[in-house]
Amino acid sequence: MEIVPNKYRLRCELGLCKNLAEHTVKFSRAGIRSRIHLCGACLRELHEASGRYLAQTADKAAEKAAEPEGGPVAPAGKTGRPERRADRTGGRRAEAERG
Ligand SMILES: [Zn+2]
Repeated sequence: MEIVPNKYRLRCELGLCKNLAEHTVKFSRAGIRSRIHLCGACLRELHEASGRYLAQTADKAAEKAAEPEGGPVAPAGKTGRPERRADRTGGRRAEAERG
């Protein structure tokens, strides 16, 4: 794919935009009819939108890759409780030994 300056008086083909097309998107191995003519504003918008979209999909792919096979990790609070209980019984035992 290649973007070249458009030298013909054509209208932008994106959405309802009726600006003069300043650029032409050429596709390899495709005829002249499959070219897309678009204005500078639409080209910039398309570029920004594709950048956002690609960043989002890249984030989702990274999240999926980071997730372990058994599903999401258990919350940290569950592992904290038994330790506190063990501390309490340890304290009672120490009192009984004294008494
Ligand atoms: Zn346009």
